[in-house]
Amino acid sequence: MTIRIPFVDLNSQHQPIQTQLQKAIYGVLEQGDFILGQALADFEVAFATASGAAYGVGVASGTDAIALGLQACNIGANDEVILPANTFIATLIGVLRAGAKPVLVDCDPQTALIDLEAATKAITPQTKAIIPVHLYGQMVSPQKLLDFANTYQLLIFEDAAQAHLAERDGYRAGSVGIAAAFSFYPSKNLGAFGDGGMLLTRDPDVAQKMARLRNYGASQKYFHTESGTNSRLDTLQAAVLLEKLPYLPQWNCDRLTIAQQYDSELAPLSSAGIISMQNQSSTGHVYHLYVIRVDDSCPLERQQIQDKLTADGIQTGIHYPIPCHLQPAFTYLGYQQGDFPQAEKLAKQILSLPMYPGLSNSQIKEVVAAIAGATSTNLNAENSSSVPIGSTVA
Ligand SMILES: *Cc1c(COP(=O)(O)O)cnc(C)c1O
Repeated sequence: MTIRIPFVDLNSQHQPIQTQLQKAIYGVLEQGDFILGQALADFEVAFATASGAAYGVGVASGTDAIALGLQACNIGANDEVILPANTFIATLIGVLRAGAKPVLVDCDPQTALIDLEAATKAITPQTKAIIPVHLYGQMVSPQKLLDFANTYQLLIFEDAAQAHLAERDGYRAGSVGIAAAFSFYPSKNLGAFGDGGMLLTRDPDVAQKMARLRNYGASQKYFHTESGTNSRLDTLQAAVLLEKLPYLPQWNCDRLTIAQQYDSELAPLSSAGIISMQNQSSTGHVYHLYVIRVDDSCPLERQQIQDKLTADGIQTGIHYPIPCHLQPAFTYLGYQQGDFPQAEKLAKQILSLPMYPGLSNSQIKEVVAAIAGATSTNLNAENSSSVPIGSTVA
């Protein structure tokens, strides 16, 4: 099956600035400062400044930004950390690698963001921090988070891997908590040409400890004050990211426009059980993903709709099909099916539609038409007992 509308298209992003990117890469080749070089230092300052944080420390991945970042905030053994069950597995892995105990909680089904009431109930005397995951590009309400953290004396550690430059309540992602983890995986809103990540923080001590942890725990060459690791953001990747950063606001703006078009085109399908995830942050949502829910009231299963779109050459995704607590590797944490009903239900209903800067107006209409076609085809099929969905060739 040929792909007519891909889920993500990085070429449309890179083509217009290709010469510029090549120049940046060759600049690093000429300098030869491949590890902890000038472009890294420059990008750390630029990304922290853009995000409203004081310090940035580049690392090898978003996962390392979480794992080492928690350690840099002195969160570890004997500490409990609250996080949502419906996140990418790296959030959970980061907590475990830091040596802390993960405490999962359920989410709000309208937004898929962490349910702070559920979080309140999960607090124990050991609770040290909460990780709000700014899922799909929408921030967890900073105002509510700060109230929550102040009331219970907890640290906020943001997982902002999907939320570069997102805004809500006058805050930017990365400026709410003591620290925030970002990923520059290629398909993230700001992506490198490989893996990459960064910790942002307001705290100079956290920044300094993070800088040691990513560099074998060295405070100066061959002098090790803690047991760190090797996790630096390559100078080459930083040079690419530094070139791309000025375009990020426009790319995010394009994503918002695309999402608004999806919202309005999909609105008539709500009676058929196709529901868009709620945007509660106005123009501050950066739509890393555009996610719909195939509700119980829809005549079709999510799988049938996804199959129909695939047959039409439209790529989709599911973020994420299995919540963290039901992953085989983590059964030892002791959670069970039924523990987080909203997260479990969402995992069965959600579908991520094509979303990237450059996705055109007519492509969006095509995607929506294919969904509409799928749902109404089935409604007709009930009357006429015609062929099953997906079996016809257009
Ligand atoms: C991508 C992502 C990560 C991990 O980032 P990597 O760079 O892939 O290690 C963590 N959390 C969330 C929510 C993500 O989307």
